[in-house]
Amino acid sequence: YSKNELAVIGISSHKSGSMTANYLKNGANDFIQKPFDIEEFYQRVIQNLELMEYIELLKDSATKDYLTGVYNRRYFFQLGVSEFIKATEKNNPIIVSMLDIDNFKGINDTYGHHSGDLVIKSLADLLKRQFHGKSHIVARFGGEEFCVLSFGLETDQYLERMEGLRLDFQKSEFRCIEQCFSATVSIGACKVDEIDMTSAIKKSDELLYAAKSSGKNKIVKNWD
Ligand code: GH3
Ligand code: MG
Ligand code: MG
Repeated sequence: YSKNELAVIGISSHKSGSMTANYLKNGANDFIQKPFDIEEFYQRVIQNLELMEYIELLKDSATKDYLTGVYNRRYFFQLGVSEFIKATEKNNPIIVSMLDIDNFKGINDTYGHHSGDLVIKSLADLLKRQFHGKSHIVARFGGEEFCVLSFGLETDQYLERMEGLRLDFQKSEFRCIEQCFSATVSIGACKVDEIDMTSAIKKSDELLYAAKSSGKNKIVKNWD
């Protein structure tokens, strides 16, 4: 476990002075000498929990996007490269997707930046729902652009999820004062075949561009 997942508090009635130091040197977070006051015990537990929460918060702010809670671009590459190599070695299928909300500038211009943010968040929520767990890495690459690395999904399973997401997004209704509006997303999907992650991302970007230039609100993929 990492420091934000587990804290260890040693408790002992042993009188040796080196006991505490040994515990801490070997990875314990804290040490309580017996006999102890029950209030001291609770305070130490609470302080350790607060520290774990604080570490988690720091970790999240370094690795996640503030608006949507999905990974940021920098952490995506850090985590993605090693997972990509592992999957390649195991011959696990990999699909890289680039997503970009259609005509988003128009949404911002018509309904305001705040409504635009809600649309971005809503797409991120759908991505988190469809591509959760350790087999997927979802990141916000920039404004209204997301990238997803999917490991272990066959192309038909992938398409079911991504088409589902595209349709759910299209059906979502957003409200701005008295007006209702909707949005769509275009997707480039690259099934990885003996190429590295950077080339796969570049390829899915080209496929996304093809989706944009052939009418938007669709998935363009590099397989039949
Ligand atoms: P296309 O269909 O070709 O993708 O066109 P588009 O209008 O979606 O693309 P474009 O790249 O012209 O517009 C992206 C806009 O996203 C421009 C920028 O002002 C806006 N944007 C970038 N980051 C944010 C953000 O965090 N929140 C909001 N609301 N808008 C953002
Ligand atoms: Mg766009
Ligand atoms: Mg864009």
